[in-house]
Amino acid sequence: MLHHRYYTDPFLTQLSAEVVDARPMGDTYHVVLTDTIFYPTGGGQPHDTGWIDAANVLDVFEEGGQVIHVVDKPVPPGPVTLRLNWERRFYHMQHHTGQHLLSAVFANEYGWATAGFHLGENYTTIDITTPHAEEHVLAQVEQAVNGAIYKDLPIKVYTAEREEAAALPLRKMPTVDTGIRIVEILGYDYSPCGGTHLESTGQIGLLKIIKAEKYKGMTRVYFLCGERAFADYSLKHKLVQDLSNTFSTAVPELAAKVQGEVDLRRGLEAEVQNLQNRVFHYVAKELTAKARGKFIHHVLESDSVDEAQSLARHITAQGEYFAAIEAGSRVVLAHSLENELHVGKLVQEYARPLGGKGGGSPQMAQVFFNDPDNLRKFRLFLQDYGEQF
Ligand SMILES: [Zn+2]
Repeated sequence: MLHHRYYTDPFLTQLSAEVVDARPMGDTYHVVLTDTIFYPTGGGQPHDTGWIDAANVLDVFEEGGQVIHVVDKPVPPGPVTLRLNWERRFYHMQHHTGQHLLSAVFANEYGWATAGFHLGENYTTIDITTPHAEEHVLAQVEQAVNGAIYKDLPIKVYTAEREEAAALPLRKMPTVDTGIRIVEILGYDYSPCGGTHLESTGQIGLLKIIKAEKYKGMTRVYFLCGERAFADYSLKHKLVQDLSNTFSTAVPELAAKVQGEVDLRRGLEAEVQNLQNRVFHYVAKELTAKARGKFIHHVLESDSVDEAQSLARHITAQGEYFAAIEAGSRVVLAHSLENELHVGKLVQEYARPLGGKGGGSPQMAQVFFNDPDNLRKFRLFLQDYGEQF
């Protein structure tokens, strides 16, 4: 595999090759070529995509020492042109090389090994062997990694035999005995690795740790490199700028301003609740004073069931009453009568046959009507039923 072009020239995006074998496989075709720029899935790095003439490369994997290209159209025998989806490959190269550097700094400065590596479409992570990494440690690691990026250190790739590899300060042991592919970031890191890498650390551009969380007794670190990190910065910068405009506040004071607004809102909510209680207390007094008997029917302007319940409680607190409070398509029933009235059962017996949905306890119940006509029928029933109290 070591002679394949994705290894010898990872920046090559187009190549002419000959088709060695092409066979249908279900809805797809499996193609073997004399040489390839398409990286097959392995070593934590996902496969490349792109085109072989007009056929889309959907998957690339290694089998029996051969690179198999899975394509969506038949590929004719003879010479073909390979074109790489460079955006995807460069994303992999920036994050894969960034991972080497990040893992090296964690290992060299804190003694934490990298036990897992995920390079996905949407996020990239490593799992480091510490149950907890403090914020200031992550910040220090980021600084060290970006410092190595600014130095634009050369990255060398070479093969070594086992004895030669044994003499190197390898971060992890190789899985093969011969032709061990070593990726060296000058002075920082020596790793046996089968992925595609950049030519120098400067090409990583930038590395930013996005998040760290506990994972199976270790710490999972999410990070972004290069283009993705810049896109993330642009997005977040716009967001902060928009918030700064909305709150007419300079960025350094923004967090305190937003906290102040949240506190203010909580205070206002409590005040509204308090005022509403006082209003309902007076409404309840007025309704009970005007009532001819113990039954009180009232329609709220709001459709809030909380408000309807609150008013119903204020009415029953005034003495012996049976209240029916309407809020939009709902009716709340409550009573404080010294008799056997069970408003939950009342809903079951009289509202459900009219299509009402609901129920409740002996003292408090509610019902909802889809059809306003049925709500009207239930209202008429209640007014009639309430006459007895
Ligand atoms: Zn690598």
